[in-house]
Amino acid sequence: MKYGEQYGDEGLWEGSLYVFDDRMGVKFSDKAQDIGVCIHCGARTSNYENCALASCNDLVLICEDCKQDGAKMYHTALCRQTATTGV
Ligand SMILES: [Zn+2]
Ligand SMILES: [Zn+2]
Repeated sequence: MKYGEQYGDEGLWEGSLYVFDDRMGVKFSDKAQDIGVCIHCGARTSNYENCALASCNDLVLICEDCKQDGAKMYHTALCRQTATTGV
């Protein structure tokens, strides 16, 4: 497993990994309550970002990888479209 490398936050992951291993992610422990899923690629993350569209500004889960892609800082295609077309 390379979760530490991939997500860069091993400490945060330690508690939840056991849960996923033992119960296949069906049930979450208290420790794992802040672990969510990236809205773009489905990777597990606890990294919240505000949608890049100011008028939306939704707090959404975006993993560290997707965060590198400016277009993915919009939480939906509609938000991105709104920002680029100005509608
Ligand atoms: Zn992602
Ligand atoms: Zn949005």
